[in-house]
Amino acid sequence: MKILVINCGSSSLKYQLIDMTNEEVLAKGLAERIGIDGSRVKHRTIGKEEVIIEKPMSNHKVALEIVLNALTDSEHGAIKSMEEISAVGHRVVHGGEKFSGSVVIDDEVLKVLRECSDLAPLHNPPNIMGIEACQELMPNTPMVGVFDTAFHQTMPKSSYIYPLPYELYEKYGIRKYGFHGTSHKYVSNRAAEILGKDINELNIITCHLGNGASLAAIKRGKSIDTSMGFTPLEGLVMGTRCGDIDPAIVTFLMEKENMSISEVNNLLNKKSGVLGISGVSSDFRDIEEAAAKGNERAQLALDKFTSRVKKYIGAYAAIMGGVDVIVFTAGLGENSPETREAICEGLEFMGIEIDKDKNKVRGKETIVSTENSKVKVLVVPTNEELMIARETKALV
Ligand code: AMP
Repeated sequence: MKILVINCGSSSLKYQLIDMTNEEVLAKGLAERIGIDGSRVKHRTIGKEEVIIEKPMSNHKVALEIVLNALTDSEHGAIKSMEEISAVGHRVVHGGEKFSGSVVIDDEVLKVLRECSDLAPLHNPPNIMGIEACQELMPNTPMVGVFDTAFHQTMPKSSYIYPLPYELYEKYGIRKYGFHGTSHKYVSNRAAEILGKDINELNIITCHLGNGASLAAIKRGKSIDTSMGFTPLEGLVMGTRCGDIDPAIVTFLMEKENMSISEVNNLLNKKSGVLGISGVSSDFRDIEEAAAKGNERAQLALDKFTSRVKKYIGAYAAIMGGVDVIVFTAGLGENSPETREAICEGLEFMGIEIDKDKNKVRGKETIVSTENSKVKVLVVPTNEELMIARETKALV
């Protein structure tokens, strides 16, 4: 069974074709600059040269047509015909309260997804465009939606309710939803497998640290709290997002700087985080380099990032009644030994002890805690595409 996994952004379409008999990636690629000048598809069939197809792509349907042609191309392709694709798995950012698991997409599901667009105006509309493009071009192929929010639907109400007038939850669905769920689910399950333990007997804290970053408290395989909230702005300090701040700052800024709603939104989402503090970059590699050369604000940005992750680890250990496993994943979590070490430093009192040698690893599944560490610390590269393909296979 071959499954096509699709992840649509507003001007991009990422894809992977996965053979589920051995979970091997057959081909992958990215259509970018959809609807803008200079659109192109970078396509690679595993074992063959990468090809770059430069063609105007006015919308996601045109992009998908080019992708399907690339996948079935006699020279660069991975399959002979589209009939070989048994199902399509779509990453969908927001499933609201309606979806606590993946679903086979039909008209009713699409209707609910459109309703959820208010909650994720930047993400759900392009996800829906990708689904509609597939429906037009592959009308007989079953499709599954896999939601970033679904894994966190197990949170108890005391975790997800905000201390605002309750009517706002009822009227607008203002509550914590959480994101990166597919990644938190994948790496927590993988960590249990690597340790040879039953996930139902573990308290796990997963740290998805990329440009967007979130932590999840996973008790016996179920998410009971996570740091992102109503939107992906809450929680950790991120590349350009502020995470937790005093909400009074918003109205203060609007008044003092005469800022509009969209200007404040832009400031909190695009100009804050480690970029805002350091003034250097949103990329941790640049910030680590600047800090090493003595840039104090770059060091301050790293310290703020680290201390907030630490705070959440402490909080999540407390609400779970202890922690057995900590997992690091995503760009920074997988690739920055310095960040992992800084986060774990001083947490020995909780039974967390990093092995500095093992922790040198980048991008490879590894147990990086010492033999004696009570809490096992792991690096597990995330694989959201594989998780989406597995969920799709299970449903079709
Ligand atoms: P992601 O959003 O998961 O793709 O992660 C992207 C972020 O990971 C980048 O912005 C970098 O800050 C960070 N990153 C990736 N590789 C490294 C590395 N070798 N060292 C430090 N940070 C890294």
